[in-house]
Amino acid sequence: MTQPHNSLTSHASLIVPPLRYCTPDRLQRAVDGLFDGTLTVVSLTHQAEGEIRGLVKNGDGCAYTVTLTPEGATCNCGDCTYRNTVCKHIVAVALSIPRPTPPQHSPMHLAWSNGEKLCKAAAHEPAWYWPKWNVGMLKWPETCPLCSAVYTRGYSRFWEQLTYATVA
Ligand SMILES: [Zn+2]
Ligand SMILES: [Zn+2]
Repeated sequence: MTQPHNSLTSHASLIVPPLRYCTPDRLQRAVDGLFDGTLTVVSLTHQAEGEIRGLVKNGDGCAYTVTLTPEGATCNCGDCTYRNTVCKHIVAVALSIPRPTPPQHSPMHLAWSNGEKLCKAAAHEPAWYWPKWNVGMLKWPETCPLCSAVYTRGYSRFWEQLTYATVA
């Protein structure tokens, strides 16, 4: 299973180095080209884990293939191939890759010692099992809010019934 956190890390390892090591004039040309439409990132595809390939159309109608990997970036244009530089196509691709949304907490459910989750979530979802959790953990950000609500409501209902019973 891929951890969302790792995808954020690998995203940065792909786009930060080219933007950091390109020359200022190539960065400028990439930004200008994307702005005035003479450079177009036609497609972006996720290849193997941690590798992104982009097809970039130049002003002259030629298309170049850019590959970003954590080990480095390549493009099949002359600037990159013969001068071994970070060309404007690589920069254009790096600038066009959408930033992944930050990971959501997968909530920790609260479960009874028999394995039943308070919010009735599926068995495979992660949980703390009684008595490994306590009332203080109900407000933790990683605690399932539904489990907390069920616990709080159930608990107050228990006291309500107790009160009614006493009154009756
Ligand atoms: Zn290039
Ligand atoms: Zn829950």
